[in-house]
Amino acid sequence: VSEGKPENGLVAVIGLARSGRAVAALLARRGHRVYASDAGDDAALRLAAGALRSHGVDVQLGGHDLARIAGARLAVVSPGVPPSATPVVAARNAGVPVLSEVAIALEDLRETRVIAVTGTNGKSTTTALVAHLLEATGRRAAPAGNIGRALSELALEASPPDWVALEVSSFQLHDTPRLEPVVGVLTNLSPDHLDRYPSVADYYADKQLLFAGASDRSRWVTNADDAAVQALAAEAAGSHWHFSLLRPADAWFDPDGGVLNLFGAPLCERRGLRLLGLHNVANALAAVLAVAVAEGQEPDATLRAQLREGLASFTGLPHRLETVGEYGGVVWVNDSKATNVGSAVVAIEAMDRPTVLLLGGRHKGESYGALAGPIREHVRRVIAFGEAAPLIARDLGAVEVEAEVTGSDFAQVIARARAAARSGDAVLLAPACSSYDMFRDYEERGAAFRSLAEET
Ligand code: ADP
Repeated sequence: VSEGKPENGLVAVIGLARSGRAVAALLARRGHRVYASDAGDDAALRLAAGALRSHGVDVQLGGHDLARIAGARLAVVSPGVPPSATPVVAARNAGVPVLSEVAIALEDLRETRVIAVTGTNGKSTTTALVAHLLEATGRRAAPAGNIGRALSELALEASPPDWVALEVSSFQLHDTPRLEPVVGVLTNLSPDHLDRYPSVADYYADKQLLFAGASDRSRWVTNADDAAVQALAAEAAGSHWHFSLLRPADAWFDPDGGVLNLFGAPLCERRGLRLLGLHNVANALAAVLAVAVAEGQEPDATLRAQLREGLASFTGLPHRLETVGEYGGVVWVNDSKATNVGSAVVAIEAMDRPTVLLLGGRHKGESYGALAGPIREHVRRVIAFGEAAPLIARDLGAVEVEAEVTGSDFAQVIARARAAARSGDAVLLAPACSSYDMFRDYEERGAAFRSLAEET
């Protein structure tokens, strides 16, 4: 789309959340005729629509003109829009090429070096940590994608950063044919988004697109402990670098010594990280390895020291195993971002106090059975809430743990938790479900948890 004079014909931008707005502005700046639409219509969207119209973008709120989209030369989808959304399907059925917002932004960021991060869990944490470590090693870097800014926002800047740590979801990979990162990171894989994909194989197939542009120059950082990850990565051209929590690898954690190792030598102690949970040690290993291999040579002593300091100064992201406070001897932990069973499992396993666990929200299709083991070991009482509560109670029926089912009044849920917790306990919100039955998003759910906890 960027080469030469813009061709005639319309570019349709589907979805006007943050990245949709930015990409519409970017396309308009390039001189394209842009039609941008969103199913929603609220004050924030109207404000954004006004700004885009002043750039010459034709904006529609409250619905999509499917005929216009079907007649477009190109359709651009925002990360939040699933491939099954009606306007995306309309574009595909009409043979209109569909590209992600990331694909468009990359065309304007040819000088920027990208470290791309994908996987089922740990993407945001790893992406934020990659950006933090890049900065700690003296590079001008920014996180982008679902966290931080949309890539198109960076492309709109007068002087974009030299490096970008880019979080890419499976949906974005689906429509980003030429990602070709300097380093690509695959954190882990487990079933997710079964509400949006017909099968786990389809979901994994999108994740495999990380490797679609692989060449001899590519560098891949992957989880050696995850057989599904290794199966997807196996055939990709380029150099492969591995991290592990179990055995020696390019970056690995030795639980006996409590030490993170990089290229055969200790880098830092587990205690030197401020993050809870072994899964965050995996995220740290992935990030440090990605930054270490990005320049294509083994890190010297200076770079190792910078990486060590960068790891020590990273405080984590909100809503990810975030300790919000201690009230009456009870620690309240907000892991609202644990929106699938896999991420809830690691959260429960990270708890070192008897735990009152809040599970529930909108069901996404997975069984909750995998929670039984960690619950037996760490949890005093389960409080199941929201739409998924009956399913959770059914799947966990055989677990010998106190459990109760509540409704969808979150203040009530928190009141139950407060009543159940004793001094020395933790209350953990790791819902294993999406928030959409009760909240706008996981951030609103986490914020509600925090403010209700503070009232304790
Ligand atoms: P993502 O962006 O992939 O959703 P986040 O870094 O935002 O990942 O973490 C989301 C949740 O997933 C966290 O709250 C935590 O419970 C869990 N999680 C984080 N890292 C990992 C990991 N490496 N393996 C498994 N679960 C993880």
